[in-house]
Amino acid sequence: MTEQATRKVTMDKLVSLCKRRGYIFPSSEIYGGMGACYDYGPLGVELKNNVKACWWRSVVQERDDMVGLDASILMHPQTWVASGHVDGFADPLVDCKQCRKRWRSDNIAGEKCPECGGDLTEPRMFNLMFKTHVGAVEDEAAVVYLRPETAQGIFVNFENVLSSTRRKLPFGIAQIGKAFRNEITTGNFIFRMREFEQMEVEYFVVPGSDEEWFRTWVDERVKWYTDLGISRENLRLVQHGVDELAHYAKSCTDIEYLFPMGWSELEGIANRTDFDLKQHAGHSGKDISYYDEDTKEHIVPYVIEPSAGVDRSVLAFLVDAYDEEPDKDEIRVVLRLHPDLAPVKVAILPLSRNEKLLPLSQDIYNNLRRCWMVQYDNAQSIGRRYRRYDEIGTPFCVTIDFDSLEDNAVTIRERDGMKQIRVPIAELKATLDAKLCGQPFEVLPPGGKKWLGFEE
Ligand code: ATP
Repeated sequence: MTEQATRKVTMDKLVSLCKRRGYIFPSSEIYGGMGACYDYGPLGVELKNNVKACWWRSVVQERDDMVGLDASILMHPQTWVASGHVDGFADPLVDCKQCRKRWRSDNIAGEKCPECGGDLTEPRMFNLMFKTHVGAVEDEAAVVYLRPETAQGIFVNFENVLSSTRRKLPFGIAQIGKAFRNEITTGNFIFRMREFEQMEVEYFVVPGSDEEWFRTWVDERVKWYTDLGISRENLRLVQHGVDELAHYAKSCTDIEYLFPMGWSELEGIANRTDFDLKQHAGHSGKDISYYDEDTKEHIVPYVIEPSAGVDRSVLAFLVDAYDEEPDKDEIRVVLRLHPDLAPVKVAILPLSRNEKLLPLSQDIYNNLRRCWMVQYDNAQSIGRRYRRYDEIGTPFCVTIDFDSLEDNAVTIRERDGMKQIRVPIAELKATLDAKLCGQPFEVLPPGGKKWLGFEE
């Protein structure tokens, strides 16, 4: 049996769920869509923001040796000459003479068009950078590029960050932002887009300590994914051979994930040596180096770069979280998202639309929404509402029933095992807080008890 055969998720099911529930829509759909661009809907934007926040927390907030940056997308055109992108950021392109479809020749097997079997042109190199113009004149002098990676914004700011923060090596700079690539072959939903987001760290180290830091970052990054719920067996490390390395890299390891279409790159970790800083020093004429107080020498640090895709991470988290199980005559679809990633943390569900339940339910809703993304929902039967929140990955539902008006307690129902506990309203916020932070559901707050449907 293949690795995929035991999984319940397929790309079609996921694309359909994302559309139906408001995670991800094709861009400009009413006009027929815009190739390889996607829009994040009301739930998608929450998930994506949570992915970025978790990454920032892990690589900036919780570390002493990291700072953040947010550089502009449009940069001086010399940046891309220095980085090698103007000359070298290209893929081999072939056209089908019959159906006119374009392909990356290194991505297709055989010498004929994979779509119609037609003859293909000779490969020619196609630069993936999008060009645009600044100012009112559309001449060659005004050409700028939409950045194809966020990394260069960090390198050109190395001196600014160093002098304003007085960092000592090793230290790193983190950035999240949009990048643009005019990809030849797209597809696989949000896996390969023309406009996407990256989360990149450039970690500057003393030359000689680079390979050790490289290995440390590979481990750190794998741990980040598994801490947020990705199964370790769905991740693998692939080391680039010497002949596959990018022009700037000494070593590179990809973290691959078992997507529905097969193993594919989720994140790349590269040892970029001192290539970029030296290139920018050469092209700008500025001294870009680090003064080592101990040795009294100027050195150009080596750089370790963990470069992750926000969108590919979102896709991996969704794929890994997707589950189906039999539920009476139906199938229960549940997104087992880590609570830190779940778009809606808690759903507030009055048992019915009866007016008597309204004031208390609204009161609870208004209190909790200050802490987390919370939704209030009183439409349809309670069972249907539970299923809806299972399908969008909401970890907890709080049900207010008629007993609540008497005993000042409500029911919390958890998504994964569908167990329920009854807790005093006074303990509700602290209980949810603890559960969202990973406390076992069975641990009861003062005055709490197991409730109907609780499975021992
Ligand atoms: P690939 O081989 O899949 O084209 P790459 O090796 O060119 O990717 P990098 O340049 O290493 O990618 O970019 C770092 C990360 O940015 C990738 O691991 C991926 O997560 C993300 N990324 C790159 N290109 C795209 C894209 N077109 N759409 C979505 N994410 C992307």
